Amino acid sequence: MCEKHDIVIIGGGPAGLAAAVAAYDAGVTDVVVIDREEAPGGVLRQCIHNGFGLHKLGRELTGPEYAAVYAKEAARRGIRILRETMVTALSPDRVVTACSREGILKIEAGAVILAMGCRERSRGALNISGTRPAGIFSAGTAQRLINCEGYMVGKKAVILGSGDIGLIMARRMTLEGAKVEAVCELMPYSGGLTRNIVQCLEDFDIPLYLSTTVAEIHGRQRLEGVTLISVDENRRPIPGTERYIGCDTLLLSCGLIPENELSLGAGIPLDGITGGALVDERRETEIPGIFACGNVLQVHDLVDYVSDEAELAGRSAADFVRGISPAGKTLPVFAEKGVRYCLPQRIHAGASAPVELYMRVAQPRERVKIVARSGERILAEVSRRRVAPGEMEKITLKPDALCGAEEICVSLEDL
Ligand SMILES: Cc1cc2nc3c(=O)[nH]c(=O)nc-3n(C[C@H](O)[C@H](O)[C@H](O)COP(=O)(O)OP(=O)(O)OC[C@H]3O[C@@H](n4cnc5c(N)ncnc54)[C@H](O)[C@@H]3O)c2cc1C
Repeated sequence: MCEKHDIVIIGGGPAGLAAAVAAYDAGVTDVVVIDREEAPGGVLRQCIHNGFGLHKLGRELTGPEYAAVYAKEAARRGIRILRETMVTALSPDRVVTACSREGILKIEAGAVILAMGCRERSRGALNISGTRPAGIFSAGTAQRLINCEGYMVGKKAVILGSGDIGLIMARRMTLEGAKVEAVCELMPYSGGLTRNIVQCLEDFDIPLYLSTTVAEIHGRQRLEGVTLISVDENRRPIPGTERYIGCDTLLLSCGLIPENELSLGAGIPLDGITGGALVDERRETEIPGIFACGNVLQVHDLVDYVSDEAELAGRSAADFVRGISPAGKTLPVFAEKGVRYCLPQRIHAGASAPVELYMRVAQPRERVKIVARSGERILAEVSRRRVAPGEMEKITLKPDALCGAEEICVSLEDL
């Protein structure tokens, strides 16, 4: 089967849904969303805790409730969502190949929006030594089993990794009656939001061991315990600090990897730090007419910002379909001194609307300012009492600040 559509969106999670609604509202109504799952909503369908939507919708929702808001908006506009359909290839000239029970579908798209989300780092990628017993799960898999399948994964757990998913699962396991012995974190600071450390660990007296990792896994059929070890400032294990904790479950929450296999197949250049595409301020990749948003572009901590980014990508894709593209040169954006990455990686000098630069810092710091400069000229700056890698930061560049700018460097400076 071969079809033609103005905009094809790969992924029907919160990013894909928000992009579809925004593109439609911008005047391009021939929009198709493709998702491999049986229902839209992405990861939010398994996130039954609350805390979603405070910034974007001004109310506190659960993940499925937040996803439902956007799914309803898409349905109200009659946007077509192809379910249980897996996109298997994307070409640089925007031909999308997908397969479903009905067979192979090819769509020639006026514009494509990548919204495939990300996946979790596995035990294999972490290289932990020991046996291979049952009882070791990625935190997201355990979340799905407990929240969607009604299957409790264990009784006594250790969690490796203190990102938001690990913190949320520590609380979830406790609420379901398991004993969470500890959350261990390789780095000397947590990778999660402060609110999650308080609400998910401190409120339940779950210890957080920083600069600590799992050195060994024990057990043959089922996990029996893990050996923890402290690490030095270079993340090297410190001999003599080993301690054994008996447990039947180990949850791994050690980072997310943007799902960019399709992007690579289309020849889209990726950023070595974010793992997502290199984009301009409209979220257009380096291949014209292909846009990206949400966790496939950069791992977000709050879905509210995913929706903002997706709306921008949806409007930009609609502009592209209608032949509206910004003219003029682009300014490269560099992350420097204390800033790990900055997105977008390039900005059109003639951008007519304010441009928000999103970034993550390399290490926790107190009393700093985030400064964007072009040469010696300060384009924008903002002060922060505290910054941490787990919390995404942003700074806004006004269009007139971009006039005459060459390259843009973003750095942290002491206050
Ligand atoms: C455990 C956990 C807890 C979280 N807690 C919070 C929280 O408390 N508050 C908060 O704001 N945020 C939270 N988040 C973050 C939030 O869920 C994400 O930011 C958001 O879901 C990202 O949206 P997305 O659309 O980019 O990706 P996803 O939600 O991952 O959606 C991507 C979609 O693309 C589909 N897809 C991928 N590849 C293909 C393909 N080839 N073909 C067809 N379909 C494809 C997938 O099936 C999926 O439906 C949490 C996330 C997790 C994992």
